[in-house]
Amino acid sequence: MSHYQATMSKMKNRLLNLLIDKIEERSYYEWFTLLDQDFKRYFHVHETEFYIYHASQNKFIAIKNYTLPSWESSSEFSKELVESGKEGFIHYLQKVGHGNIDDFIVFKNNKSEPLALLLIESTDAWLDFAKSVYFQEFEAIIGGFITSIRQLNGLITEGKKFRLLFNTTESFTSTMTSETILDRMLETVQRILPLAKTRLILSREQSGMNHTYEIFNQVENSPLIVKTFLNGVMTKEINEEKNIISMNAPVKGRQGVYGVLNIEVPKGIFYSSTQRNLIYMLVNTTGRALENASLYNQAHRLNEDLQLVNETSQKLNSSLTLREMLAYLKKQLEKVLIPDEVLFIFYDQNQEYELVETTSCFFKEREGKEYIQYVSHYIKQEKTPLFEADFESTLTKHPLYKSVIGMPILNQEEVIGIAICLHKEKYFFSFDHFKLVESLIIHASLSISNLQLREKMRELAEKDHLTGLYARRYLEKQIYQVIEENQGGSFLLFDIDNFKLINDEFGHDVGDRVLKQIGTLLIEKMKSAGIAARWGGEEFAVYLPIYKKAELETLSQKLLERIPTITNPSVTVSMGLVYWEPGVYRSFDLLFKKADKMLYQAKDQGKNQLVL
Ligand code: GH3
Ligand code: MG
Ligand code: MG
Repeated sequence: MSHYQATMSKMKNRLLNLLIDKIEERSYYEWFTLLDQDFKRYFHVHETEFYIYHASQNKFIAIKNYTLPSWESSSEFSKELVESGKEGFIHYLQKVGHGNIDDFIVFKNNKSEPLALLLIESTDAWLDFAKSVYFQEFEAIIGGFITSIRQLNGLITEGKKFRLLFNTTESFTSTMTSETILDRMLETVQRILPLAKTRLILSREQSGMNHTYEIFNQVENSPLIVKTFLNGVMTKEINEEKNIISMNAPVKGRQGVYGVLNIEVPKGIFYSSTQRNLIYMLVNTTGRALENASLYNQAHRLNEDLQLVNETSQKLNSSLTLREMLAYLKKQLEKVLIPDEVLFIFYDQNQEYELVETTSCFFKEREGKEYIQYVSHYIKQEKTPLFEADFESTLTKHPLYKSVIGMPILNQEEVIGIAICLHKEKYFFSFDHFKLVESLIIHASLSISNLQLREKMRELAEKDHLTGLYARRYLEKQIYQVIEENQGGSFLLFDIDNFKLINDEFGHDVGDRVLKQIGTLLIEKMKSAGIAARWGGEEFAVYLPIYKKAELETLSQKLLERIPTITNPSVTVSMGLVYWEPGVYRSFDLLFKKADKMLYQAKDQGKNQLVL
């Protein structure tokens, strides 16, 4: 047996043992490290470098690139270059930094397709062997061996990775929270592509999570991310400057794309099509899982919303005042929407709005009023609720509040008021929020208009029909209360002089007009100073919380002088005024009797005067 024959049979044995021994645990890198040891041992070569052939890319890619990032342009060679002729390729190698290499072998399978490339820094021993008759057999044996390990490796890594994918996707079925699903996805990506950097870009509806996921923005995101998001396709781009490959995978469900996973990997590292497929499948499954979770959560939320609407309706049917009801509605809206502001406006007969339930005076000033006027105008014009997510586009200035919901409060098709919810952030309220506000306000509308009606009726009962002043009963009740609370004040009683003559001369209608004229004057003068009432026929009474003699005297004197000027035909009045300091009067009757006495004294003394 020749020396080489013995070497060949030793090598065959060794390779067979390698294949039998713990095959599962070896990466390409490990396999080729073992081969390298053999080459050095049996053929005394100085240096070897292995490259694996990738048919899909027509390239030989350095083994070291499977584990370490490497930026040398010499870490991959095209098939064309390698097959361009021995002299040419060696010359090229020396130019690109492989100066020590002076020989190479392309191993092929039995169909003559390339498998791997071995670069060699040769020795005399090696050159001698390469010339021997055994060389061809050597090429065949190594070629066979590489075929085997390529098949094995493919099977093992695919198996492992699909198992990983399977485990991950299986775990999706056991969770209904979007955050967990996305976390698992990112973890798995990290295991499939250990050197990858990931970024998750989500559509707005998915973004209500604690994580710092980016929100998709058609303007700010790169064109490829936008393309992936809008078309639901994988995209890839090479950034030469940063030496990275950037891939985008759509997080896609049956009903749409929910986001994009952007993966950046160092350019020099080889990633197989299997890895890319896995990422695609993983991200796809994630999209489905997200969709399921979101459907589940929607159903859950719908149930909670129904409960809230139900609870609110029950509360609205219990006896509340309008103010209490609005305060309650505001509280409910704050609970679900977490808005910055909730306010209600109501329209009066003149279609002017009145602002209720807001703590901020912002809305009474110019800038704040703009919001109300905008919403009010929109709802009256369009006859539909308003749902704005980016107010910037509709108001000229930079608005403080960018998210706006405006919901009309209706009474038989007529807009009687509007509920307004505001938030400073754009896109803060979801469509679900909007629908919830709608159903709350629809439920509350009837109760609100009933209450408004009731309050109006109560007011009517408390007021005198002809003059619009309070009725006697109301004033009496108020003064009773004042006395009970030991507060001071004054009570002014006056009667028109010679009113019978007016009636006789001009008729009852003209008499009524005079009464109205005095009523209007009192309403205007008393706005918030005191309470004026029609005491009886042509008698009036005023309560004032003032009890300083001088002040009262000027006030009454003014009234005494004003009345003849605003009445037509002009009439004078006689006045009786009683005032008391806190805690003095125990009974209203006594007070009234005294005022009446003063009034008669004024009449006795010639009318058109005041008696204190
Ligand atoms: P005096 O200065 O003493 O008060 O003279 P007077 O004419 O006002 O006398 P008196 O107070 O006794 O008469 C009240 C008159 O006021 C009787 C009634 O015809 C008239 N009067 C009472 N209520 C109304 C009303 O609602 N409308 C009209 N037009 N007249 C009324
Ligand atoms: Mg009278
Ligand atoms: Mg009179």
